[in-house]
Amino acid sequence: MKISLIVPCYNEENNIEPFYNESEKVFCKSGYELEYVFVNDGSCDLTAKNLKKLCNENNSNFRIISFARNFGKEAAIYAGLSYASGDYICIIDADLQQRPEYALQMANILDKEPDIDCVGAYPEKRKEFFVKALFKNVFYKLINLVSETPFKHGVSDFRMFRTNVKDAILQMKEYHRFSKGIFAWVGFENKYIPYKVMERKSGKTKWSFIKLCKYAINGITDYSAKPLYLSSVLGGLFATGGFAYYIVALVIFLMKKGYSPNALICATVFFVGGVVLGCIGITGAYLVKMYFQVKQRPIYITKEIIEKEKE
Ligand code: UDP
Ligand code: MG
Repeated sequence: MKISLIVPCYNEENNIEPFYNESEKVFCKSGYELEYVFVNDGSCDLTAKNLKKLCNENNSNFRIISFARNFGKEAAIYAGLSYASGDYICIIDADLQQRPEYALQMANILDKEPDIDCVGAYPEKRKEFFVKALFKNVFYKLINLVSETPFKHGVSDFRMFRTNVKDAILQMKEYHRFSKGIFAWVGFENKYIPYKVMERKSGKTKWSFIKLCKYAINGITDYSAKPLYLSSVLGGLFATGGFAYYIVALVIFLMKKGYSPNALICATVFFVGGVVLGCIGITGAYLVKMYFQVKQRPIYITKEIIEKEKE
């Protein structure tokens, strides 16, 4: 049985070798054969060099796909899936925050439970800035409220699945990719296990708060059109409210001459203006997605591909 480990790498120069060593240690007596699918996502440190060195000095199955620039983790996952040839496919980070022991546990579950197609992992506890944790909570509540696709709270991209899931995901060629949604959308039988998030082996996270917010907005607009309807609902409410307000203002004006509702009018104009601009923004977010999809640009551009089979 062969397992493909898809490892997206962006500036992970010091994590490549420890990741490989740890994975070998965990899987050496397991009976599984490993295939390493490293995707170098336009790193500007020594990641590319260290990946080549690893490949030259070790006898394992390697696929190293180097991108022409940084296309993001989602593109790296997609590229990894296209090159993975294993019976089970696992998406795992390079920084050892997700221990390979859990990957072995996932493989054992797939072996023992033929009805399960995908085993996902969710973090037991993660030391995070409370605002970030709060935003994540709000995100899952919101996306489950507006989307028809169910999202399991907190499930990470750390998963192992069979080739049927891989083939389904490769059919989804959307430009703006959101893996959590893609996995939820394709369905299949899923099982979830908890995992302990370790400290990053080396380097720092690539996800700033702003990047996470953009990612969340992308996820919501990818899996729900409800925000678009919200614009119409708000528009209707404000039009009705505005009409009622002017009737009331007119009646007051006729009854008590000299009544000047300027401040109220000013506030209303600002408020309604803001809502209108917000709604245009929501429409714009969807339009941008269509714009990029219509262009049919590739999800990633490869610079180099290295393939080596175990002897
Ligand atoms: N990553 C990537 N491209 C990017 C950002 C991140 O391939 O543009 C990889 C990164 O090298 C790591 C994984 O995605 O292997 C997860 O990134 P990170 O550890 O920064 O995320 P966190 O664990 O902090 O959520
Ligand atoms: Mg990490």
